[in-house]
Amino acid sequence: MRRTAALIAGGGPAGAATAILLAHGGAMPVLIERHAEPHDVVCGGFLASDAIAMLGRIGIEVAALGARPIDRARLVAGRHVAEAALPFRAVGLSRNRLDAVLLEAALEQGATIERGLAVRRVEPGTACLHLSDGATIAAEALFLATGKHDLRGEPRTALPDADPALGLRIRLEPTPALQAALAGTIELHLFRGGYAGLLMQEDGSVNLCLSVAQSRLKVADGRPERLIEALRGEAPLLVERFDRAAGRGAWSSVARVPYGWRAGETGPGLFRLGDQAAVIASLAGDGIAVALSSAIRAAHAFLHDGAEGAPAFQAAFARRTRRPIGLANLLRHWGETPWITGPLVGLLGRMPGLMRQAAAMTRVGAG
Ligand SMILES: Cc1cc2nc3c(=O)[nH]c(=O)nc-3n(C[C@H](O)[C@H](O)[C@H](O)COP(=O)(O)OP(=O)(O)OC[C@H]3O[C@@H](n4cnc5c(N)ncnc54)[C@H](O)[C@@H]3O)c2cc1C
Repeated sequence: MRRTAALIAGGGPAGAATAILLAHGGAMPVLIERHAEPHDVVCGGFLASDAIAMLGRIGIEVAALGARPIDRARLVAGRHVAEAALPFRAVGLSRNRLDAVLLEAALEQGATIERGLAVRRVEPGTACLHLSDGATIAAEALFLATGKHDLRGEPRTALPDADPALGLRIRLEPTPALQAALAGTIELHLFRGGYAGLLMQEDGSVNLCLSVAQSRLKVADGRPERLIEALRGEAPLLVERFDRAAGRGAWSSVARVPYGWRAGETGPGLFRLGDQAAVIASLAGDGIAVALSSAIRAAHAFLHDGAEGAPAFQAAFARRTRRPIGLANLLRHWGETPWITGPLVGLLGRMPGLMRQAAAMTRVGAG
């Protein structure tokens, strides 16, 4: 059996940022990532100032990566449209690029990155992982950062949900008209049971990401194109944008997203990070900030208190994320309820300050 001091499962923003910080602090970690190459992830690609600041603290400057500045939000519900300037700096950046750069930085700091190797299960109550190549690796501390995917042995215990949310994502080639419409803008289309977000990414493509109740995809025979077509009456501008795209990539999807979930308790030696620590409704566009904030705090706890620091870190992180996650969930429920969204977007159109306030209050912060 291999042994290491710090073992990280998953190389998304939470895992990679933890690897950078632990390596920088001298605790050379081993990170296991199942994808051998950079890959597309179901994510809107929206980074607000808290995420941008935390990336800066670990040496990643989003402007140098070509991230597209965003200074406005446009909310669309049927024929109602509201626009407001954002109360913070934001950018659009593909996760493909962000995740690749974070893992490169971890490698440069001296972390060991093992790609193309999946964790099969965790030995419950221990910091010991069984890997897809048959090997077992044990550590003083395990940093669980598999994001949207639960590991056998240490799954999240979300409340049962009869109609859970799922995420869908596709890359669109924009026409000049779509480019102009999305310049400097995050556009959110609200409809029954979900929403869709559109933004420009660093490579000039448009990221279209949806969060939608499972039942809506089911009645579309599980086919995202049919779901988009079914939205023609509720979200005509979204369907127009999709239909008129100059080209489209392949869909990616993720099932059963447990919005609102937070891990309050853990034992010594098990640090839960990112979506394994707390899941903020994606409508808020702050999940990457949650991931980075958990990484910064967990790495600090481990470097300071060792494996024994895990329970206090987890409890404090659950407290810190309670308010933004609760508010984001409330906004998500309003945004998915047709009799609320029309009047709400109408009101926000007349009072853009309210929209700015809601955007500011759903940030986890850069601390
Ligand atoms: C529809 C939707 C839209 C979103 N839009 C935004 C947005 O615009 N802005 C924002 O800030 N947040 C957004 N989020 C949230 C954001 O995507 C997540 O909060 C963030 O990705 C969490 O980072 P993470 O590192 O915890 O997990 P992930 O990004 O999921 O990374 C986990 C990593 O672990 C790896 N992994 C998983 N299982 C294993 C295994 N068994 N063995 C080895 N490796 C494994 C995966 O390959 C992956 O690389 C969105 C979420 C959804 C569902």
